[in-house]
Amino acid sequence: MNLVFLGPPGAGKGTQAKLLSAKFGIAHISTGEMLREAVQMGTELGKQVQEIMNSGALVSDDIIIRLISDRIQVADCKKGFILDGFPRNLSQGEALGTLLKNSGKALEGVLYFVISQDELLRRLENRREAEGRVDDDSETQMKRISVYEEQTAPLVDYYSKLGLLKRIDSLGSVEQIHSLVVKAVE
Ligand code: AMP
Repeated sequence: MNLVFLGPPGAGKGTQAKLLSAKFGIAHISTGEMLREAVQMGTELGKQVQEIMNSGALVSDDIIIRLISDRIQVADCKKGFILDGFPRNLSQGEALGTLLKNSGKALEGVLYFVISQDELLRRLENRREAEGRVDDDSETQMKRISVYEEQTAPLVDYYSKLGLLKRIDSLGSVEQIHSLVVKAVE
């Protein structure tokens, strides 16, 4: 089962991806986590992306597509994977289509986590306090939301036209949303 989790930053994609990945034994691939790890370890990649991540903008498509293309070949992806935070714009969406086709894989669905702007801002504020993420200061948050609206939101239409989009109302508790996610993929 190969899935994409789509939605604004703070919609709960990461939490839900972890739960679903544990339930079905499929890989959870978070490009944001991979990049943060590279930054923490001080690798070449980390140095390359640190500044842009802190600004809330998107890292170049080339870097991300290379990361994903290697990552989906790893053995833990055999049973399937959840892409959390990728694709982030239409060209990444198209590149993903090509990558999957070339490796004989396909997407079963795209789960779109729907959430109001007010709830989103409230959650981001909580997360900033809880995790102290450097890219979660309020200026970066606003940038991340505007980047989402301009570049990522068009993927909703893109996947809807491909007949892959499933909407998940993301207002409830973690457990409630998890059952909606399970229902959507079963
Ligand atoms: P996330 O944890 O998914 O919110 O990602 C944190 C940051 O990593 C983003 O604000 C971007 O700077 C970068 N990033 C993560 N995924 C991507 C992607 N697919 N394309 C470009 N940049 C990304």
